[in-house]
Amino acid sequence: MGKKEHKFRSFFTLTEHPTNKSNKKAICICCIEANGYEIAKDNKDCWTTNIFKYCKLYLKNCLNFSSKYIEEEQVEILALDEEEINSIKKKSCTTYNSKY
Ligand SMILES: [Zn+2]
Repeated sequence: MGKKEHKFRSFFTLTEHPTNKSNKKAICICCIEANGYEIAKDNKDCWTTNIFKYCKLYLKNCLNFSSKYIEEEQVEILALDEEEINSIKKKSCTTYNSKY
């Protein structure tokens, strides 16, 4: 109970992005389980760019993710990371504001 070890990263496996050199391609593990790695890595519905908000948006829309986790778990997973996003935003704002 109350474990905070859920990270988006545990729902994706990373590989080189074909067109984006600065961000990796994050392949959805739920989709890999459903379709197999070879299919998932080339199917645009099964991967996203490895950026926090993209991963979050992806999981919200992924049918394999939503069929694997009950709605309560999905809310919990996505909510935990919302907290994390907010704490990151706050930090960067504070740093920015203290400079000016
Ligand atoms: Zn997926």
